[in-house]
Amino acid sequence: MKQARVALTFDDGPSAHTEAIADLIAEHGGGGTFFVLGDKIPGHEDLLRRMVAAGHELGNHTFSHPRCSRIGEDELRDELARAQAAVTEASGRAPVLVRPPYGDDPERVGAVGGEMGLACILWDVDPIDWRERKVDRIVRRVLDGVHDGAIVDFHDGWPSHHTGIRDRTPTVDALREILPELVRRGYEPVTVSAMSAQPATQTPSSS
Ligand SMILES: [Zn+2]
Repeated sequence: MKQARVALTFDDGPSAHTEAIADLIAEHGGGGTFFVLGDKIPGHEDLLRRMVAAGHELGNHTFSHPRCSRIGEDELRDELARAQAAVTEASGRAPVLVRPPYGDDPERVGAVGGEMGLACILWDVDPIDWRERKVDRIVRRVLDGVHDGAIVDFHDGWPSHHTGIRDRTPTVDALREILPELVRRGYEPVTVSAMSAQPATQTPSSS
């Protein structure tokens, strides 16, 4: 029987929380997908390189986290190209995925990103962890929504212009509960690219 798979994805990093998250996923036998911001990379280059070596995937989340529908096409192209260059230089591997900030304007981001070989990826399970402080609520949203082929949208960091809470401890703590439970239910945490290469064909009986 083929194992059910889930793609755990993370936006707005890297941050001081990213390494703990990457290690947790690896400890549970899987890989995660991290949509990083170009302007958050400085100081985290070694971490990104280690993450790629450990089997995680890095995606493009723009350079400075604009609302893509509010910027012109030249600026959008510049945001994606600068992030692409920054991730590639830091990690040694060019992203093949892009996720627009706020999930905004995915069609245009897909079109412009496509010029750079980027496929636009959104999500279908939303823990709302970027504003949630209660760990059990993050855990429940993920475990209630997960299915074979699910793409879960966590946040391991925050944009440079973010004025709210700059702490992702609840996300890390939630993952300490979520990961063993996913494994217990028969899920393998895989990268988005690994999942896309072999699409889901079944739903686990426990969901
Ligand atoms: Zn974001």
